[in-house]
Amino acid sequence: MSDEYVFDCPECSVEVGVDAGIKSRILDGGCVLCQAVVGPGAFSRPSSGDA
Ligand SMILES: [Zn+2]
Repeated sequence: MSDEYVFDCPECSVEVGVDAGIKSRILDGGCVLCQAVVGPGAFSRPSSGDA
């Protein structure tokens, strides 16, 4: 039941699942891999449960 997001870096194309805390950390400090500054648009909600 936790907030989950998919972070899709526009610079290095990493795609990882993150929670709200890590999301805000990435928004604050940049991509975990390439340190690119990213905005909220780099996050999306994981699509799940509708298959
Ligand atoms: Zn990156």
